[in-house]
Amino acid sequence: MTSLNHVPAPTAAAAPPVPYRTDATWTNWGGNQSATPAFTVQPRNEQEALDAVRFALREGLPVRAVGSGHSSSPLVQTGGVLMDMSRLSAITGTDKRQRRARAMAGTTINAFGDALWAQGLALGNQGDIDKQQIAGALATSTHGSGKDLGSFSSKLRWVKLINGYGEIVEIGEGQLRELRAAQVALGTLGVFLEVELDVEDKYYLQEQITYPTWAETTATWQSDIDSNRHYSFLWCPDSDSCELLDLPGSPGHDMTDRSYTKRYNVAHIQDESELSTREGARLDRSYRIYPGGFTTQFHELEYFVRSEDGLAAVEAVQDLIRTRHHDQKYPVEVRWVKADDAYMSQFQGRDSTVITLTTKPGTDYWQFFRDADAVLQEFEPRAHWGKIHFMTRSRLERLYPGLDTFIQVRREFDPRGIFLNDHTRALFG
Ligand SMILES: Cc1cc2nc3c(=O)[nH]c(=O)nc-3n(C[C@H](O)[C@H](O)[C@H](O)COP(=O)(O)OP(=O)(O)OC[C@H]3O[C@@H](n4cnc5c(N)ncnc54)[C@H](O)[C@@H]3O)c2cc1C
Repeated sequence: MTSLNHVPAPTAAAAPPVPYRTDATWTNWGGNQSATPAFTVQPRNEQEALDAVRFALREGLPVRAVGSGHSSSPLVQTGGVLMDMSRLSAITGTDKRQRRARAMAGTTINAFGDALWAQGLALGNQGDIDKQQIAGALATSTHGSGKDLGSFSSKLRWVKLINGYGEIVEIGEGQLRELRAAQVALGTLGVFLEVELDVEDKYYLQEQITYPTWAETTATWQSDIDSNRHYSFLWCPDSDSCELLDLPGSPGHDMTDRSYTKRYNVAHIQDESELSTREGARLDRSYRIYPGGFTTQFHELEYFVRSEDGLAAVEAVQDLIRTRHHDQKYPVEVRWVKADDAYMSQFQGRDSTVITLTTKPGTDYWQFFRDADAVLQEFEPRAHWGKIHFMTRSRLERLYPGLDTFIQVRREFDPRGIFLNDHTRALFG
């Protein structure tokens, strides 16, 4: 691959003062988003990250940061400078008494596990995978499940970032307006270098996997949400649904119209000889229980409705699959997340039920996603920023009371809009 010719070929003066490439095509995990940035840099320290942003400012180039590339929306694309943050990775401090942890922005969620545990701490919740970098997870309000558990973004208490003036600045709890913007910023406030999160004392989880019919799932709907720390399920429209996500199906049962349910609750044990790897009933350190695999490629749309509308919204999606999209056989995942205060958080002011639709790469899934978007409109859904969605500025104006404040803060941090790309400019420019 040769370098693009829409910027001057790099010379000593025009090249960023950090290792860079001009021939790197970036593609996301799902393979549905790609770009060939003019410069791809991989800073090894804060100074190199700062140098890269200052270079972009000087040359009039836009900048986007990339984490682990697990978003399937067009968040990362840029023809300017792509900042691959993977080498800025380390847990930089913990405070057991305050239950806090600091980490560099490129630290993966996976890398928190052993490191925090050694300090008697753990992340309070995690999602289905742990491959994301912490700044990437924060940028899109990545979440797990549990009605009393907030997203990663709800735990952000401090951040150090490079703003659109090419300065390193910090945002802490004394600047609530800015912090609420930084908690879910889709990379538009600047390049995050280091973050501090609320964490918890370390804990063990007991897993319980069951396979109820849909009638059984609905019969215990509220009690399951209320009585489990983590409750989530994947409803299967078809006997082959589990296989599509490598989930073990229920022995002896056709999975059609059944749920693969996950319950994780805190277990108190004397010592680790009590841990268990028994399928469907693991007992382990919290961070080893959460990641669910999901290694095969897929595309997702994920919408969030108020919890009180959760059951009706799931049934609307089931009806859509049964009546108009029989070919959609992937399980529909359903989770819960606690409300928070971040301006652009999908959970802002709303305890939410999360509905995730999955489709196969290489198939034409657009009509299914458009139809799902349409049938869910009556529930005023918000969308996962890192998954395929149909959000527009006017929709955001209706759905996010903090939108104007977020945009003001964004403009204060980046008046020239160097951290915007086409996708984010339309939403937050
Ligand atoms: C298999 C799979 C499972 C998933 N499971 C879940 C789940 O359980 N729950 C859930 O909520 N989501 C889930 N997601 C979605 C995923 O968590 C989000 O898309 C997340 O944002 C990806 O993080 P990343 O590190 O890959 O970031 P990327 O996708 O690389 O980037 C996401 C955003 O973060 C910004 N960014 C990255 N680094 C920085 C930085 N240093 N400074 C500023 N901005 C930065 C980027 O500019 C971009 O806007 C899943 C996705 C996949 C593919």
